[in-house]
Amino acid sequence: MQIAQNSVVAFHYTLTNEAGEVLDSSEGREPLTYLQGAGNIIPGLERQLLGRQTGDKLTVKVEPAEGYGEIQPQLVQEVPRASFQGVDDIAAGMQFQAQTQGGPLLVTVTKVEGDTVTVDGNHPLAGEVLNFEVSIENVREASGEEVEHGHVHGEGGHHH
Ligand SMILES: [Zn+2]
Repeated sequence: MQIAQNSVVAFHYTLTNEAGEVLDSSEGREPLTYLQGAGNIIPGLERQLLGRQTGDKLTVKVEPAEGYGEIQPQLVQEVPRASFQGVDDIAAGMQFQAQTQGGPLLVTVTKVEGDTVTVDGNHPLAGEVLNFEVSIENVREASGEEVEHGHVHGEGGHHH
């Protein structure tokens, strides 16, 4: 079956960056399942899987604009340590939910120097060109309820 609007698609993937480093893979796990057209996966991948079918193996290249976005320098900020109340040891790599004008944002601590903490609100994969090796395992039509909810139910999906 071909992937069309409102198809439920199960696929295996290996994600590498431009340097050829593997960033993520579904190998050894269940395939990833999504509802075509519902924005469950990044736009560049969803767009390029449209029209493919079960058994297809392909490489999909996704530019940052259709992936996790370009790096936005204004999302890197220096904040005083005092703004992390209740956290004793702040270290690079820690993640916090920050309240911003645009709503909650997940930020990662990138540097701690004295009383100054540098946080980065960019997605870890922002600015990266992504290469997906994709193997399409299964395609089926979504149920009316799945379309209504905008996600997949049952195997590989939501249970509720
Ligand atoms: Zn649901």
